[in-house]
Amino acid sequence: MGMFSTTGIRGIVGEKITPQLALEVGRTFGTFLDGSGNVLIGMDSRTSSEMLKSAVVSGLISTGVSVTDAGLVPIPALGYTASKDYDGAIMITSSHNPPQYNGFKFILENGLEITAEAEEKFEEIYNSKEFISKEWKEVGSYSEQSIVGDYIEEITALIDIDAITKSRLRVAVDTGNGAQSILIPELLETIGCKVLAINTKPKGDFNRDPEPNEKTLQKFEEFIRKESADIGIAYDTDGDRSIFLNEKGEVLMGDVTGTLLARELLSESKRPIVTTVATSKIIDDVIEKSELLIKTRVGGKHVAKELLDTNGVFGFEEGGGCIFRDFNLTRDADFASAKMIEILAKSGKKFSELIAELPNYYQLKGKVECPDEKKEEIIKRAAELFKEGASNLITIDGVKALYEDGSVLIRASGTEPTIRVFSEATTRQRAEEIHELSLNKVKELV
Ligand code: MG
Repeated sequence: MGMFSTTGIRGIVGEKITPQLALEVGRTFGTFLDGSGNVLIGMDSRTSSEMLKSAVVSGLISTGVSVTDAGLVPIPALGYTASKDYDGAIMITSSHNPPQYNGFKFILENGLEITAEAEEKFEEIYNSKEFISKEWKEVGSYSEQSIVGDYIEEITALIDIDAITKSRLRVAVDTGNGAQSILIPELLETIGCKVLAINTKPKGDFNRDPEPNEKTLQKFEEFIRKESADIGIAYDTDGDRSIFLNEKGEVLMGDVTGTLLARELLSESKRPIVTTVATSKIIDDVIEKSELLIKTRVGGKHVAKELLDTNGVFGFEEGGGCIFRDFNLTRDADFASAKMIEILAKSGKKFSELIAELPNYYQLKGKVECPDEKKEEIIKRAAELFKEGASNLITIDGVKALYEDGSVLIRASGTEPTIRVFSEATTRQRAEEIHELSLNKVKELV
């Protein structure tokens, strides 16, 4: 695998991630843009972000590209603004990785996170080291500008503020000392919420693990209960993913909250919903017209591409990343938060009641050891084996078998010599049954 993957470049600072690399990243991006145009740059709250940003800026400007520095800012705001007024953007971040990590994420002129084609071209330029280098009077310019105010205004214009203001919702947020600390509390206040926030001091020595999930959000769960909040929302460090919690402080799965958003957006637009094969069967149950539900391979870039190709209205991944096609091609946790609060306010229900309207699935995860060289064949044979009894079989990425009351996904792990098995069903007993049967079938194949 090359240096530029779809999630950008990530690694430990001082090892893989150095100022030298940052400089070359800037020179690569500038050369990719033929040494002209304007690039927006932003960063998360990591201690090394400022250092890396300066080197990237230097590299960009040396190619003749001008840079506008948005400073500490969440990715959605950066992507949104880049798609309006810039030729691309770079974010200094390592998303949810531990504090010693950092890296670079690239956004193209339309707000799309780097595509496979662009990735290849980046790689070529980076490896050739043939960077554009301008003479003294042609180097790019540099300026600093806050982009938060305009972005908040744009979201506010698309949300029913009256409904939210009337509902007097108490919204708890945990920004994890990351980039959303400077944006989401202000946005939510602007749209009429009573905001209760923790971990809002931006810093690289995070108070909690930067990956928001049930294991890392225990303090926040208590906070929600103590403050009698109606809804809780937690963010990763660069602020492109939002994890929702109900008023009891229970962490909700991204498939569930994504389905809630999908149901609303579909009813507004009648355009397709896009998600990956890893998403729970909840989405199949809620969106009954199969032509309005498009499944992709696992990975945000596939969701984004299908959204574009099919003119879908909304795309999501089970990890909490949401793309609102008409607003922002970058995963947008700010818009997701505002929209979810609007849905909750209009419903007049408790968040837990709203969630209870959706089917509930018990999910189980397991794996079977399998040598790398055998994986492909096993998956192929699994497609044959799992056809039996399935109401639908999807084979675009591993094998997903859908049953009346559950589903199972069989996928080769990309990082270890195992085949992963994800099972789910409407009762625990049935989930266990599907899981055991599936594990056994895979073991037999191996
Ligand atoms: Mg992220």
